[in-house]
Amino acid sequence: MKKTLVTGTGGLVGYAIRKLNLENFIYIIRKDADLTDFAQTKRIFEKIKPKRVIHLAAEVAGIGGNIIHSGEFFRSNIMINVNVLEVARLTGVSKLISFMSTCVFPDKCSYPLNERDIHSGPPHPSNAGYAYAKRMLEVQSRAYRKEFGCNFIVAIPTNIYGENDIWNLEEGHVIPSLIHKVFLAKKSGSDLVVWGSGKPLREFVYSRDIAKLTLWAMRKYDDELPIILTNSEEVSIKQLVDVIVEEVGFKGKVIFDRAKPDGQFRKPSDNSKLKKHLPKFSFTPLEKGIKNTVEWFMKNHPNVRM
Ligand code: GDP
Repeated sequence: MKKTLVTGTGGLVGYAIRKLNLENFIYIIRKDADLTDFAQTKRIFEKIKPKRVIHLAAEVAGIGGNIIHSGEFFRSNIMINVNVLEVARLTGVSKLISFMSTCVFPDKCSYPLNERDIHSGPPHPSNAGYAYAKRMLEVQSRAYRKEFGCNFIVAIPTNIYGENDIWNLEEGHVIPSLIHKVFLAKKSGSDLVVWGSGKPLREFVYSRDIAKLTLWAMRKYDDELPIILTNSEEVSIKQLVDVIVEEVGFKGKVIFDRAKPDGQFRKPSDNSKLKKHLPKFSFTPLEKGIKNTVEWFMKNHPNVRM
């Protein structure tokens, strides 16, 4: 039976894929192999002998973490990706999907963001280290396709959220950080402090939807050009706060701290390619996804990833 290896299964998409209980899927996490190390990467691929790879492993954070760790995120992501794709090639993997993020797109770009525009200008300075490293996934996949005929595809999801995220208050992504902050503010009866103006717009996609789309892409998507995975529904940070506050049942005051970064104002993304392939795919509404995520957090706190 052909095995599918999933790297980086300690994260939220890996968690969502695991929950699908698929046969012949092998999941590895950080402690199984240090993928920044070529020899360890090779060893684990030679042991598992996968035919397909879902490559999720990455060093990720929200805007706070990206500003603090720009060098570390550049180094670790570029090394993980170069090693994983090279070892996949050497060991005869027939299909590999890897993930970028919409933050790879140029800061100054025409909207909606389109798969063709990835390299047409520098990324936003708040996450340049991460973004440049991630852009190289597309470059390496394309180069390997051309020289070695590797069917390595690249997906570009927008902001993913869901169960088993990183709930760090300073370095997490906006949804897990805010759920955690609202939870703490409710518990202590204090005000809720939200970063920035509340005006930036983001597109949020639930991890279970990304898990389903990933499996579809593994089966059906073979193009050289990446594919953006999004519902193309822009939500302001203020609207997001309202949904989380409602779900957690927080009744206190909400303050927007403009001394904190807003990041990119918006990054609306073009999902026309996805819609062409999957016209009937229905994304989980934000309210439902947030409900599940808040429930998961409440059930698992304080034993959650920080
Ligand atoms: P980004 O999409 O790469 O910028 O990543 P984030 O998931 O970190 O989202 C950042 C946006 O959410 C910015 O506009 C922030 O100002 C806003 N935001 C509001 N509160 C928070 C928070 O507690 N944590 C984070 N990470 N962002 C927040």
